[in-house]
This record gives sequence, C-alpha cells and structure tokens, in this order.
Amino acid sequence: MNSLEVRGLRKRYGAQEVVCGVDLDVAPGECFGLLGPNGAGKTTTLRLCLGLADPDAGEIRLLGNEVPARAREARARVGVVPQFDNLDPDFSVAENLTVYGRYFGLKDRDIAPRIPQLLEFAGLAGRAGSKIQTLSGGMKRRLTLARALVNDPQLLFMDEPTTGLDPQARHLIWERLRRLTQEGRTLILTTHFMEEAERLCGRVAIMDHGRIIAQGTPRELIARHIESQVVEVHGPGVEAWIADAKMLSLRTELAGETVFCYADNVEPVIANLPSYPDLVYLHRPANLEDLFLKLTGRDLRD
Ligand code: ADP
Repeated sequence: MNSLEVRGLRKRYGAQEVVCGVDLDVAPGECFGLLGPNGAGKTTTLRLCLGLADPDAGEIRLLGNEVPARAREARARVGVVPQFDNLDPDFSVAENLTVYGRYFGLKDRDIAPRIPQLLEFAGLAGRAGSKIQTLSGGMKRRLTLARALVNDPQLLFMDEPTTGLDPQARHLIWERLRRLTQEGRTLILTTHFMEEAERLCGRVAIMDHGRIIAQGTPRELIARHIESQVVEVHGPGVEAWIADAKMLSLRTELAGETVFCYADNVEPVIANLPSYPDLVYLHRPANLEDLFLKLTGRDLRD
C-alpha cells in the first residue's frame, strides 16, 4: 500500500483553479519532492493531502486513510514542517515539544523521556531551557523538524525545509533528513532548490499552474527531457557570441547576462570559445535545475 495516493485532485480559490487534476503516488520509505515555481500549487496540494483544506474533486488516501473524511486519524501518524516556523515564542525549546505533543493526545510524562533524543537529533542538546528568540534561523528550523517527530510519524510533509537557511545550516538539515529516510520514514517535501531535490529525493514531480508536468527520478527526467551537457558562457560581448552558438546549432537560452548552451556534444562550442578571450565559460553535466527551467520557463514568478 502506498503511503500517499492522490487521484484527480482539484481545488479552486475564487475564479482561479490552483490544483487542476493532480495524481500522485508515494511509496513507503521514499523521499519524494514536489517541485515548482512560486504559485504552482505545491502548498495547496500538501494542505489538501493533510485535510487542512477541502478538495473540490478527487481522492486522497494518506497512510490508508481517506482524506478529508479520516484526516485526523491519518495526521496522528504524520509530521508536518510548515513553510514558516511557527514555534511558540512564549515557551522554551523543550516546552515547544511538550505542548505540540499534547495536540496528539500525548501525556507530558510520555513526551519528557523523548525530549533529549529529539534535541540531540535537532543538534540542540543542552538548549532545552532556551527561549525561542535566542535561537538562530537554522536552530529554529531544526527544532521545527524535531517537533514534527514528536508523535514518531511514519510520514513527514515538509514545505520548503531549508528556505532562508545558510549553506552550513542547509547541509545539516539534509543530513538529518537522510537519517529519517534511513529509519524507513517517508518524506514528502516541496522545494525550489534543485540541488536539494537532486540530493535527497528518489523521485520528484514538477508542478506548474496546478498540474504535474513531469514525474520520475531526477536522472530519468534529465535524460528524458534535456541534452546531457551544458556550457554556461558570460562576459563582455556575450550577446555577439550567441550568433556563433546558434550557428553551431545548439539550443541556447539567455538568462540575465549568461548564455546557456545545451547539447549532447559540446566540443564545437568549447573549440569556438578561445576566439573570444573575454568570455568566461563553465562546462558541466545537465542538472535538475536545467530541466526545471526548460519545463517551467525562465520568466519570474511572484
Ligand atoms: P506554491 O506553494 O506552489 O507557491 P500555493 O499552493 O501556495 O503555491 O498557491 C497556488 C495559488 O493559489 C497561488 O496563486 C495562491 O495565491 C493561491 N492561493 C493559495 N491559498 C489560497 C487561499 N487560501 N485563498 C486564495 N488563494 C489562495
């Protein structure tokens, strides 16, 4: 049985349909990434799956429970890391865990022995009595993650788990998330950091305008939708060089002041570039971000 099954999910806000017929399957123990630009409908999809909003159409089964009818039973075995930390500033670190546990009907005496372990997981050992205001952004995020584990969930939903964190803090969260999958828990996360998705997720779905436009392992998606090699070129006179790149019949994209050239064989480009000594270039394999930008476009979304 899948941990999450979604069929034909639809949700409208006013005149705008923000989830337009979404199908998803997430197997137990998977780390699944829901990717998409701002406004794609990712958060709404997660909220529907948790029974926090009612769908207009479609079916959702979360850990075998029909949602929204049996959302409460499902949520008892689910942890949630929301997009914005909503820790209670009036309580200490440990109190935040205890109070959150009470929502699941846990007794304080049952939670107390688990707190040291949760704090160790969060890298906050010794901070049980600290006030929330004294924690850094990374510490708050890790505490929110530990709080989501208070009911020992089988599945975790995480909405942009590392947005706003510095690289050190992000790497620490990634390491913790890997530990959770090693423990056999199912993770479903949204992110717009493609590196995060590529590192953590066994499978990803790319969502745009309320629809899933591609789904698979990061490698499969890259192989299916995009050329294998990329040369990024920038520097004075790069606009003039685009004509050369086009002559070499490569797919090119201009983003800001950088030209991206995509091909399975980029040797002709590499051979051509020395005639433009002012240009700087980087040759690399195609990644999930290239795929994401190809499928969702380079226009800004707000
Ligand atoms: P994402 O998480 O991919 O950025 P969201 O699911 O947050 O996307 O939003 C999708 C669209 O739905 C956006 O246009 C957003 O403004 C709209 N939306 C989300 N929640 C509501 C709501 N409660 N009321 C009205 N519109 C909403």
